[in-house]
Amino acid sequence: MIRPLEPRKPRQKLRQQLRQQLRQKSQLASSRKRHTTGQLSIGQRGPGFAWGRWLGSLGIGVLLVSCGLGERPSGPDRPTVVVTSTILTDLTQRVAGDEVIVKGLLRPGDDPHLYEPVPRDTVAIERADRIFYNGYNLEPGIIKLIQSSGQTAKAVAIGERVPALTLPKQGATVPDPHVWGSARNGMVMVMAIRDELSKLSPDDRAAFAANADRLLGELQQLDQWIGVQIQTIPAAQRRLVTTHDAFQYYAQTYKIPVLGTLIGISTEEQPSAQTMARMAAAIRQAKVPAIFAETTINPALIETVAAESGVTLSPDKLYADSIGVAGGPAESYVKMLAQNTRSIVRALGGHDRPFAPSLAPASAPTPSSVPATPR
Ligand SMILES: [Zn+2]
Repeated sequence: MIRPLEPRKPRQKLRQQLRQQLRQKSQLASSRKRHTTGQLSIGQRGPGFAWGRWLGSLGIGVLLVSCGLGERPSGPDRPTVVVTSTILTDLTQRVAGDEVIVKGLLRPGDDPHLYEPVPRDTVAIERADRIFYNGYNLEPGIIKLIQSSGQTAKAVAIGERVPALTLPKQGATVPDPHVWGSARNGMVMVMAIRDELSKLSPDDRAAFAANADRLLGELQQLDQWIGVQIQTIPAAQRRLVTTHDAFQYYAQTYKIPVLGTLIGISTEEQPSAQTMARMAAAIRQAKVPAIFAETTINPALIETVAAESGVTLSPDKLYADSIGVAGGPAESYVKMLAQNTRSIVRALGGHDRPFAPSLAPASAPTPSSVPATPR
């Protein structure tokens, strides 16, 4: 288990103070107020002070002066948050704005269930000021890495702020990690990110709150829009058949039951021939107009099921566990949920229309007014 977050270590505070001094001396200080500083002598440095990193930041500070960069404090004085899934990375970037360096470990299209960490992930985790991960065992490879690296104190399971649906798996009950399927749960995650970033960098609290409010406003509109769109599908056709079991939160929130999935909540499993035959029969009987492949999973098996059951395989794959590439129709969390909804509505006979949120500042809902997906 990942231990709860501990207060920021004194060493990190010292590092931040030193960076602040450098910034003030080099007249790079912006109008933004950060942690106040005093003069630091060698004797004030705590045990375990990272000399290499301090010298590194000194070097970067000098470089900034010599390059004559503007007022933007770029890099050394900003904390770094390392984030696992592409969904969480997008949400964190939206809330963090320019105040925090956000490093995502997974790339669009990566499957978090199967992701095997590479050496640069170990380096990123060791250097991070905070680590945000989904949790509920979505990304077992990275969770194992965090635990083995001894960096558990600064790791926060953002997805676990949402009460989990539980599903049977191999005789046990496990939490379903795909909490982002409901925009309401996305709002819970945004508020958790805002609060965690505010603890990490308290002077930027107002910026995080403003960024979060804008995103919460969009998500509130998205949540209502998805509900309306799904209701345009004729009731008898309002059923989902997907490749893996990633849409239970979406299904419950937006009232489109999951008729069946080829594999369970992890993509590690391989369906048996009997499972595929049973599924093809169920699809034929239910007369669903179309079934769906997913962007992070090889479509070969779901193509076989579609062929056996004589049902259409939607030409639009669903974005289950990752946002899409930059510039594409699902390049952000908001666009991913909107794009999935449009694909579902189109394939199942509803009225397709684009999601066009009003970007006027919305009053942020309070945590108690945003119910997570009910169990
Ligand atoms: Zn998944």
